[in-house]
Amino acid sequence: MEKKKIDWGGLGFDYIKTDWRFVADYKEGAWEEGGLTDQGDLVINECAGVLQYSQSCFEGLKAYTTEDGRIVTFRPDLNGERMENSCRRLEMPVYPREKFVDAVLRTVKANEAFVPPYGSGATLYIRPFMFASGPVIGVKPSDEYQFRVFTTPVGPYFKGGVKPLTIRISDFDRAAPNGTGHIKAGLNYAMSLYAIVDAHKQGFDENMYLDAATRTKVEETGGANFIFVTKDGKVVTPKSSSILPSITRRSLMYVAKEYLGLETEEREIYKEELKDFAECGLCGTAAVISPVGKIVDHGDEICLPCGMEDMGPVTRKLYDTLTGIQMGRIEAPAGWIREIK
Ligand SMILES: *Cc1c(COP(=O)(O)O)cnc(C)c1O
Repeated sequence: MEKKKIDWGGLGFDYIKTDWRFVADYKEGAWEEGGLTDQGDLVINECAGVLQYSQSCFEGLKAYTTEDGRIVTFRPDLNGERMENSCRRLEMPVYPREKFVDAVLRTVKANEAFVPPYGSGATLYIRPFMFASGPVIGVKPSDEYQFRVFTTPVGPYFKGGVKPLTIRISDFDRAAPNGTGHIKAGLNYAMSLYAIVDAHKQGFDENMYLDAATRTKVEETGGANFIFVTKDGKVVTPKSSSILPSITRRSLMYVAKEYLGLETEEREIYKEELKDFAECGLCGTAAVISPVGKIVDHGDEICLPCGMEDMGPVTRKLYDTLTGIQMGRIEAPAGWIREIK
């Protein structure tokens, strides 16, 4: 199979149309079989539930070329499981996780020519999503839905080296207690756009959201979970029912404990503790871990000891181990890697 002529190292994180995508429709109470199509544009009714009441959810994962030339995805079953949960909370029909994984693997296989080669730093980003396609005007769940998976090649996250982030504690809230913070709903992102644009205007890379009820505990950013490293080398992550359960973060916590022999803990983390941590990172599929060098709380600066030049030592080990597993350089725990054949 001949690869497309793309400057892999020069890619950013933008939509590039690839050849094939998977589509399945839900009609009259059942999912149709679905299949691959070359149609990237779609026509829906003006009154579709997604357009009127934002009934939609999505997932994000990547396909990688390993050192020995295989194409693999990382724990797609967990994305399938998470989408099932998103669907339930949004009164959308569940697309079963086995079929989800199958659709992901088929879409990647069909777009094999767009999977960046090993060593380029680029990857094939995979975007499964579902939306209400049937018309609704009274507020209620739609009767019709569409599930889709498309792919787009994306460039290396850290172009020209790692650069630790400066983040601010936000006055906006991301998720209400008992709301939708724990599911991957498009609406969580729509209402975060104002806060991120404002953060960028003020010179910050990201917002650190606190728990909406007490505004004393750390939650996450708009699209990534936190991990912290204590001065005695323990890896801790916030526990809250309104955080989106990041697959990267869950994998890093496992790697910390089982591969690196570090102590790990998921617990409530108070804003007051931030000044005591040695390292801080943002975890998500896009970057795996982005180190945070500085946290600004309304003018008060917390400068983490790991500094603004590079990742801290524990963050680096976590990053190298997880990316090693994803790229096939380090043996993965059973079931983590799904090869595309
Ligand atoms: C998708 C997402 C993450 C990261 O999850 P991964 O599974 O690691 O990619 C974190 N926070 C939010 C709000 C998200 O939507």
